[in-house]
Amino acid sequence: MRWTMPPDRVPEAWFNVVPRLAQPIEPALHPGTRQPAGPQDLAPLFPMALILQEVSTDPWIDIPGPVLDILRLWRPTPLIRARRLEQALDTPARIYYKDESVSPAGSHKPNTAVPQAYYNREEGIKRIATETGAGQWGSALAFSCALFGLKCKVYMVRASYQQKPYRRLMMETWGGEVVASPVDQPDSPGSLGMAISDAVRDAGSREDTHYSLGSVLNHVLLHQTVIGLEAKEQLQLAGEEKPDLVIGCCGGGSNLGGLALPFVPDEGVELLAVEPTSCATLTTGKFEYDFGDTAGLTPLLSMYTLGHDFVPPSIHAGGLRYHGDAPIISNLVHTGRMRASAYNQTAVFEAAIQWARTQGTIPAPETAHAIKATIDAALQAREEGKEKVILFGYSGHGLLDLQAYDDFLTGKLAGS
Ligand SMILES: *Cc1c(COP(=O)(O)O)cnc(C)c1O
Repeated sequence: MRWTMPPDRVPEAWFNVVPRLAQPIEPALHPGTRQPAGPQDLAPLFPMALILQEVSTDPWIDIPGPVLDILRLWRPTPLIRARRLEQALDTPARIYYKDESVSPAGSHKPNTAVPQAYYNREEGIKRIATETGAGQWGSALAFSCALFGLKCKVYMVRASYQQKPYRRLMMETWGGEVVASPVDQPDSPGSLGMAISDAVRDAGSREDTHYSLGSVLNHVLLHQTVIGLEAKEQLQLAGEEKPDLVIGCCGGGSNLGGLALPFVPDEGVELLAVEPTSCATLTTGKFEYDFGDTAGLTPLLSMYTLGHDFVPPSIHAGGLRYHGDAPIISNLVHTGRMRASAYNQTAVFEAAIQWARTQGTIPAPETAHAIKATIDAALQAREEGKEKVILFGYSGHGLLDLQAYDDFLTGKLAGS
């Protein structure tokens, strides 16, 4: 029921999907000139190694040794078969999940935070500025900066800063400095787009500081492919030739991309992105160039977007409240290689409760979106009498999201 591998089976190269896409990916554009952004345009914000990965068409990119040493503190993560959920659903489907909740920060996010901190340190950078919504990315980066001896400044969306002290305390425990964003509008609850503007301004104004983004960009999805590469090998150990369906929740697209991208070239493997109806970028957004932040400081990305000034309603799955999507995920959906679906918050929490009461673990509200879609696919397999193999990404645990569970259990959760 549980397939683990020894630390020496962590993949030693990342899988780059870019050269395998059916249609080429559109380049990022400079926010001022609207011409393709060159390496020099990005150099004030990112180390050159990451800029080169961002535009790389090499099929594989080696993972540096010091990065592997840290990933091996918790990787390979387990692949687990959700037998008890299968039984509860009375489905012929076989449900597997890749458990990224076992990392120090409790989610997949350290998979990219660690290499990002590493490449910054290699370039002599002393300090990294970033944004965080619910605190998951900020805690992953604070952890990674601690291990490489870097300072970490986190602009945390004010609503979360006030409501979620425990993620802030994790960041501070790892040595991060956390402030509420937007810094210049103390009455605003903030948004991810505003916090990105704050962090980009900080990094742009200091020589010793770079910026770091936890999702969306090509190099972030690249770093996350260790998830899917391990899962492929573990499915073989479990006696499965291939999954029929790969499912992930999608905020910016990094955990979904990490799991699904290594399956893109494989025929007969269906890929599914799951998002909240209240921030339904892939299912209701427009496919066009848009800024990554609210103030329009970042390059323009070709993606599905609800508009860079869209402020999503305050749902508990904070990690899924982003107005855009990764250009790679957007490309896959636009060309029909990946499908997308959306669920409302109540349906998602019902699925989370069913999961907790069968499999035992308490998922992050983001992860519960993937669980809801998995349950629906397993029920459909029952109706069709099909032995489907479903693989989904268990992106993080919900042990610091218990307020959301309280709201659901006491009937205070908003439906959307
Ligand atoms: C941040 C986060 C997400 C959403 O981000 P992606 O880049 O879309 O993966 C999903 N699940 C968890 C647990 C997260 O922390």
